[in-house]
Amino acid sequence: MPGETTLTEFIIGEQRRFAHATGNFTALLNDIHLACKRIAALVGKGALAQALGRAGSENVQGEQQTKLDVLANAIFLRTNEWGGQLAGMVSEELEHPHPIPDRYPRGRYLLLFDPLDGSSNADVNVSVGSIFSVLRAPEGVTDPVERDFLQPGSEQACAGYAIYGPTTMLVITLGRGVVGFTLDREIGEFILTHPDMRIPEDASEFAINTSNERFWEPPVQRYVAECLAGRSGARGKDFNMRWIASLVAEVHRILVRGGLFMYPRDTKDPDKPGRLRLLYEANPMAMLIEQAGGRASTGRERIMDIPPSALHQRVAVILGSKNEVARIEQYHLEHGQGLDQPYASPLFNTRSLFSQD
Ligand code: MN
Ligand code: MN
Repeated sequence: MPGETTLTEFIIGEQRRFAHATGNFTALLNDIHLACKRIAALVGKGALAQALGRAGSENVQGEQQTKLDVLANAIFLRTNEWGGQLAGMVSEELEHPHPIPDRYPRGRYLLLFDPLDGSSNADVNVSVGSIFSVLRAPEGVTDPVERDFLQPGSEQACAGYAIYGPTTMLVITLGRGVVGFTLDREIGEFILTHPDMRIPEDASEFAINTSNERFWEPPVQRYVAECLAGRSGARGKDFNMRWIASLVAEVHRILVRGGLFMYPRDTKDPDKPGRLRLLYEANPMAMLIEQAGGRASTGRERIMDIPPSALHQRVAVILGSKNEVARIEQYHLEHGQGLDQPYASPLFNTRSLFSQD
């Protein structure tokens, strides 16, 4: 259709706005979006490609890999390593940074990614996605090691995800708002369909895995209890709950119509202060959310301010509509000061035993 803007046209238009920009960044985004198209095609074949189910292996984080995890990781590495734009890559599926093979030139960018997010959802035909974050290699570094990737989210040059749902979409930010493209499968191009994704400041929808309620910290228990109390409680309005168990799908819903997503810190596994990975899940999603006018926090601090200490570090994630995230941060603050009785009481979790009536 005349007048339609392709992803390539959009990126080149952005590049022209900056006098010193080179074609490197454009070329990098071209390769990233090709990787996403390749994964979309694979995911779309499902059982026909014998690609569903477990691979029988574990990744560095002790998680069962699905066949799609392994294949999507190989696609991301292969599609992005040859072009000369990258100095190195980090993947959820690899313990150490992936060096650019010697036969290819090195560039100045670092690519960090979760090749397939929510991969177990693919077996039941529910949306999955890919998440990516682009950093600049430190000056003069052509062979990046782990510490070169440990940059706070505020240093990201670009972040985005692809969602493989009823349609395949690519949603990106280059630091000037958030734009969404829909894959036109007939011509094989991503077409600009969501030119300015904005998150409403208030929300009446929240997403959290309530089966972990007993492990949550009091500020999160308080927030959710108030949502559940609805019109008759402290909030004075009713809420709806959502839980897709796929970060990409949750964030996408929030970018389209607002809401709140939480994977908070809990006491279920003392070794994991959160579930989601900072560098290639929380940071890119935080940049998208903030660029769309939302807020992304651990409850105690802004996600993009966290100085990373390890490649696969996990963090608590609370993101979405600005006023809801700010409210939960306030609850954490009040809890720290002991102002949120009865939620500050150690007896809160056993209140049925200590019932006052
Ligand atoms: Mn993931
Ligand atoms: Mn994954």
